[in-house]
Amino acid sequence: MMKGQQHHGAQVLKCPTYTFFMGAFNILNVEKNCPNCGKNTTTRIQFKFGETWQLEYKIGDKIIWGLNNKVEQGLDKVYVYGVLENAKCAYCEVSIAKTTYDILIMKGVIIGVRPMQDVTIL
Ligand SMILES: [Zn+2]
Repeated sequence: MMKGQQHHGAQVLKCPTYTFFMGAFNILNVEKNCPNCGKNTTTRIQFKFGETWQLEYKIGDKIIWGLNNKVEQGLDKVYVYGVLENAKCAYCEVSIAKTTYDILIMKGVIIGVRPMQDVTIL
């Protein structure tokens, strides 16, 4: 993002594995069975990749690209940092999930999500 618009006021910091943005974000909705009450609840993971304008995604969706995403569009495989909006089950309010995630995106498609494993990258 050397030139062009500062998209929605976002700032971009990059390292080889992760892409961090400050500013607007998107949401990845992931269905999860609560280990406490067994009900199916939707967890919402905030992430910044592609166009960032509170877009709602689910696993299997294609990323919507913005004007400044040429580099990201060329990536075969990337893990994007994601933060859970609310780690509590919507029904029983027990905390059911970790709060930080790696979202796996391959060729612009959201493949899956896992709890963040590498905490050495800051
Ligand atoms: Zn529950």
